[in-house]
Amino acid sequence: MSDHRHHLAEQLGHATVEETAAAYPPAPLPPAVISAILRDSDSPLYPSKIVVFCDECGAEDARDYMVSTEQTSAERLEVARAHLRAQGWRCDESGDYCTEHASAEETFCDFGVTSVSGSGCILLAGHEPANRHVVTPGDTDDEDEW
Ligand SMILES: [Zn+2]
Ligand SMILES: [Zn+2]
Repeated sequence: MSDHRHHLAEQLGHATVEETAAAYPPAPLPPAVISAILRDSDSPLYPSKIVVFCDECGAEDARDYMVSTEQTSAERLEVARAHLRAQGWRCDESGDYCTEHASAEETFCDFGVTSVSGSGCILLAGHEPANRHVVTPGDTDDEDEW
């Protein structure tokens, strides 16, 4: 286990943000793992509480993540964001959005979607009531815009 951890830390020294996020174990870490790492004074890894805020509603998610002294603060944040993405958050260059707001800007209900561009329900995914849709036929006569 500790060999694996050192190997991981070495890899992370030159990893991209994406690789860094992917290589770290998912949070929250088991207490046994945290204490093992804390006992190992050679390890660059340490648990750190990272708080991510939803840009839309301000909801916060605070957890202990295993980060490395070799990481930049942006990379450390990315560790948390990668975990939250797996939980349904949307964390990208536009900001951080909780599960409730993750899809508010980009994901629309897929009811009535056809091969025609822009067709289908114009409401956001997960709208209420779920069985009432507002469907448009799409951009069938908008060739001039292209
Ligand atoms: Zn939110
Ligand atoms: Zn709909």
